[in-house]
Amino acid sequence: MTAAVTNRTAPAVAEAERWTAHNYHPLPVVIAEAEGAWVTDVDGRRYLDCLAGYSALNFGHRHPALVAAAREQLDRVTLTSRAFLHDQFGPFCHELAQLCGKDLVLPMNTGAEAVETAIKVSRKWGYKVKGVPDGRATIVVADGNFHGRTTTIVSFSTDPEARADFGPYTPGFRVVPYGDLDAMAAAIDDTTVAVLLEPIQGEAGVLVPPAGYLTGVRALCTERGVLFVADEIQSGLGRTGDTFACDHEGVVPDMYVLGKALGGGIVPVSAVAAGSDVLGVLRPGEHGSTFGGNPLACAVARAVIALLNTGEPQARAKEVGAHLHSRLADLVGHGLTAVRGRGLWAGVDIDPALMTGRAASERLMARGVLAKDTHGSTLRLAPPLVVTVDEIDAAADAITEVLKNSGA
Ligand SMILES: *Cc1c(COP(=O)(O)O)cnc(C)c1O
Repeated sequence: MTAAVTNRTAPAVAEAERWTAHNYHPLPVVIAEAEGAWVTDVDGRRYLDCLAGYSALNFGHRHPALVAAAREQLDRVTLTSRAFLHDQFGPFCHELAQLCGKDLVLPMNTGAEAVETAIKVSRKWGYKVKGVPDGRATIVVADGNFHGRTTTIVSFSTDPEARADFGPYTPGFRVVPYGDLDAMAAAIDDTTVAVLLEPIQGEAGVLVPPAGYLTGVRALCTERGVLFVADEIQSGLGRTGDTFACDHEGVVPDMYVLGKALGGGIVPVSAVAAGSDVLGVLRPGEHGSTFGGNPLACAVARAVIALLNTGEPQARAKEVGAHLHSRLADLVGHGLTAVRGRGLWAGVDIDPALMTGRAASERLMARGVLAKDTHGSTLRLAPPLVVTVDEIDAAADAITEVLKNSGA
């Protein structure tokens, strides 16, 4: 951290607070520039980014290959709408389908839109292929889920902050405890079209399900004729050390829901990928998006897929992530009560007697590390996959000092 020679932060924070709806509670840092795993604020202070846009920045800020792809596309064509084809569209769908090992891709923009797409496709598949009576489809989801912010998606959230006061709620969802296969088996009946799950729950605090859970869900879905829809929006595309978090158990869902890192931190890009027996149920006019699959989005996402096809981001997440987890494990019992996660992804429970997650993130910010709390005393760490072992050491040292200074 270099000493601030200006004070642009306070007025910039005040202006933002005055003119925006308070649907977020950001840390008082005003970022002006970023590169790789580092951001610089308006006063010239540098911070290690340990949030990475909630995994939208898996490849770091302004990755040269991704910026080059965007620049090149900006000079050619940026939007056609889906009324016409463009020369990035076929290659993007082809390359993403191959990355996922699926037949078909349906591109959207935000994660929530991709989840909505998965819900619509699952329901139509249920009526047209499975033979569920019209209007009766049910989808089984897990408690503690986070799948986005639309009225339908918050209808099956179990987080009062996300859900309360936004009803009436969309019916057709059954919530079961995360990690409990018996409860899921009991919730599935003849009306069930899909099980929708995060293979690791991000927003809930990086909750890793018990070993064998995903394998069990897969077997259950196959046995009962139900689609397994994996929301890999936050867990996918390298974060956990594999291309998909489901890969850890060698599990292949019927549908992948992707977003965040697919846009390389440059543009919002989301998609679902599935077999033609599933995505093939859609007909023209039934679903779409003005911006979904636009040329700029496709060009950037193709560069993202090319990075993933090298296997390098996944390998780094595995290797550097192991170091992160070994450093954090040393702090359990010394200010931390638990650490969870996989790859470069960790949910860190701070002893609530010491401080809240919010206080921890503020104190880390003062030491040049940006991270964000989620639910009470949990901090989520998800640095860009380009982070180095030395940088992880610096972040772990900062956490150690913050805990020590609070009496741990
Ligand atoms: C972020 C997230 C979403 C929603 O994505 P948006 O782009 O914010 O709409 C959905 N599911 C999971 C698992 C997420 O982490």
